[in-house]
Formats: sequence, structure tokens, C-alpha cells
Amino acid sequence: MSELHKFMFEGLPVRGMLVRLTDAWTDILTRREQSGGYPAAVQELLGEMTAAATLMQANIKFNGALIMQIMGDGPVKLAVAEVQPDLSLRATATVLGEVAGDAPLSHMVNVNNQGRCAITLDPKDRQPGQQPYQGVVPLFGDRHEKLEKLSEVIEHYMLQSEQLDTRLVLAANDKVAAGLLIQRLPLQGEANLAGAGAVAKDEDQIGLNEDYNRIAILASSLKREELLELDAETILRRLFWEEDVRRFDPLVGDEGPRFACTCSRERVGNMLRSLGREEIESIIAEQGQVEVGCDFCGAMYRFDPIEAAQVFLQPAIQPPGSPGVH
Ligand SMILES: [Zn+2]
Repeated sequence: MSELHKFMFEGLPVRGMLVRLTDAWTDILTRREQSGGYPAAVQELLGEMTAAATLMQANIKFNGALIMQIMGDGPVKLAVAEVQPDLSLRATATVLGEVAGDAPLSHMVNVNNQGRCAITLDPKDRQPGQQPYQGVVPLFGDRHEKLEKLSEVIEHYMLQSEQLDTRLVLAANDKVAAGLLIQRLPLQGEANLAGAGAVAKDEDQIGLNEDYNRIAILASSLKREELLELDAETILRRLFWEEDVRRFDPLVGDEGPRFACTCSRERVGNMLRSLGREEIESIIAEQGQVEVGCDFCGAMYRFDPIEAAQVFLQPAIQPPGSPGVH
């Protein structure tokens, strides 16, 4: 069963989290199998994104979806992992062209250094006209060198958006997607991922906290295979046996990470409405009906000519939490 473990280092300004997605991850892969599945390298990237997005959602107090997107300039055009506040999650990737089994990150999404990673926080109670909060980072480092690890991209993002040191170890295969996050705690109040304003004092602390640095180095020694194969207890004991770790009850089952899709016929109807009557009528003239498949779960929504016409009779209301199509 998929599980999320939160822990603290007693008396130190450092917290940690470990996520292990098993059924939540294989549910995503199984739904993709009917359309051929993902190349191995894409599977690894999407699994790491899903694990990272779960850690980030669990790390903030925010009532809305956390959506991690990579907009690629290579054969992987788009990869999306979306996690709700209750840790239900979904993920998908759009692949156009060949991807070698061992393709590095840059060959998939950052061929010309134009790839981007965006993190969107979309409030559940978003008011009409209110934009979701979004932060975007490139897929290169300080000297414009291409980053080959998703964990480095996310660490950059966390430093930029929260002014907090973060260390991430991520790994995924066809059975498990897992991640370890270690973060220096903000000096005061909650971290400001939701855009509440930077805490200047935290900026002065970047890279300087000895306790955080020591624990981050220990975390970095965790190998990919260990993260995939060992249980949380064993990983934490092996890495931090000299530290005073306080663990909280793991989040599992209905409270833990699990696959669920938020698509619905109503949302597809809204999307059709946003395309406009003319566009929909031309599709019906050509195909006799409108068919929309959900990229996340594979559900197929069909609208015959009468049903499609009814879509335009309803008032255009954007339900909260739906992707912003304007
Ligand atoms: Zn769906």
C-alpha cells in the first residue's frame, strides 16, 4: 500500500518526509497500458514527478490542487502530476516521437534548453477571475548547464519560491515511485509557497545551517535502489541512526496517497463550451459526435449532436478546482 511518512529531527530546524507510491503508481501505469504504456525513461520521470508532487503537497497547508507540469521542448511535450489536499493523485505524459530506454532528462524535455517546470497551486474555493498561483523554473542551473535530475530542478524551485534549503532524492520504476525530502524549517511561521511573502531572515540562512547541511548530506547518500526497495523504517534507520528522529503516524489507505481522477462529464462539457459552438459543430459535421478521452484515467466522454447542443444552453460556470480554460 502507498504510504507517506513525516518526521522531525528533535530540537533541530529540520523536517523530513518519505513517500512510497506502490498501488497509487501502478494504477496510473495500468490505465496507460491500453494505449501502449510509457517508454521506460518517461515512466521514471513521471514517477519521480508524482512522488515529488506528493511530497510538496504534503509539505504545505493549502486547500487546493498542487499541479507539477514539465513543458518539454523534446519528444516529451508535457508531463503532469496533480495531487489534491487529501493526497489523491493522478499523472500523465504526452510523448511524441521516440524516447530511448535510458534517455537522460535533457533528451526528453530540454533539448534546446527551452524546457520549463511549473508548479501551480489552484485553490479549491477560487473566485471567478482569480488566477491560481504559479511558479516556473527552467531546467538548467546557474551556469545554464542542463540539469539531468528532476530533484535538482525542484530544489531550485523550492529555494526560489520559499527561500528554504531542500534536499530531494527521487526514484521510480514500473512498480514503485518514491521520494525523500529533507527541508530546513522556516525561522518563523509557515513556509510561503502560497505566496504570502518572503521571510528575509530565511534568505540569510540559505546553505548556512550546520544541522540541515549534515542531515542533507546523509540524505544524499541514499541510493536509488535503496529508495525503491527498502521500507521506510529501514531507510530512516540506516540514514539517520545517529540522529534523534521523531516520527509521526504514517498516512496510508484512505488518508494516504492514492490514485483518483477528478475528470467528469460536466468538466468535459465546460471544456467543449470554451472551444465555442462553431468548433464543436464542425467536429460533429465531420465525425457525427464529439469524443473526448481523459488523458489521466482513460475515461471516454461522448456527446451526440443533441447532447453537444445542450452544452451551449447551460450558463457558463467554471466549477472551482477545474483547470482554467479561458
Ligand atoms: Zn479522468
